[in-house]
Amino acid sequence: SVSFEHVGKSFGSGRDVHHVLHDVDFTARPGEVVAILGPSGCGKSTLLRAAAGLDTASSGRVLIDGTPVSGIDPRCAVAFQEPRLLPWRSVRENIRLGLPDGRGRDEGGTVVEKLLRLVGLTAHAGHRPREISGGMAQRASLARALARNPGVLLLDEPFGALDALTRLKMQDLLLTVHAAQPTTVLLVTHDVDEALQLADRIIVLGRAPGAAADRPASITTVLDVPGERPRDRASEIL
Ligand code: ATP
Ligand code: MG
Repeated sequence: SVSFEHVGKSFGSGRDVHHVLHDVDFTARPGEVVAILGPSGCGKSTLLRAAAGLDTASSGRVLIDGTPVSGIDPRCAVAFQEPRLLPWRSVRENIRLGLPDGRGRDEGGTVVEKLLRLVGLTAHAGHRPREISGGMAQRASLARALARNPGVLLLDEPFGALDALTRLKMQDLLLTVHAAQPTTVLLVTHDVDEALQLADRIIVLGRAPGAAADRPASITTVLDVPGERPRDRASEIL
């Protein structure tokens, strides 16, 4: 589980202080997929960074499975909108670097080869990031995050830059992966259809109606997505 306990976040200080988040209070249950929606600049990435321990909350705290996050948390894996692969390493190497203990762990490379197959990059495993398309880089980035076998998967608009078809394939892939490896997922997206399709619950970040633009955002809505998730039917196992 991931718990945000009255999380607030400000940047800057004194006259230049910028309150971004205020009193975000929410728990994602183990194995749950939670989509985070909200207008640009409302603090979605900031919230994910706090969960990953890439940044600290100004007030409140974040807990994973009941213990506080402090510093970069090994229980989390993150995939960003820009893939951030190491340019001088091959696709295979980049995925291998996601393994919990770096490259040493995966004897015979079976985990990495499985992940390559899962994201459809076996044929491109030896290529450098600049030699593959944006969609492929995004898949490599997801595979690198999965290599960590994380308790919590944090996805910041992971499919935002992809064309419609690749996007559908990636959404499918996420469902398949989640069926095989039911981690808690926080998925930031601008796409309401994607949120409805993938998430068990949707939280909306925003300012109260009529609030000034410099007011911090908080959770305005928590929505249970009713019905069977497509992933409940996903049968392909990692
Ligand atoms: P988008 O949908 O455009 O990605 P977002 O909801 O992810 O937006 P954040 O990136 O979390 O928004 O940013 C929220 C606010 O916090 C923005 O006003 C941004 O300028 C500010 N902010 C984020 N990181 C920093 C930082 N390191 N220093 C100062 N301000 C920051
Ligand atoms: Mg963002």
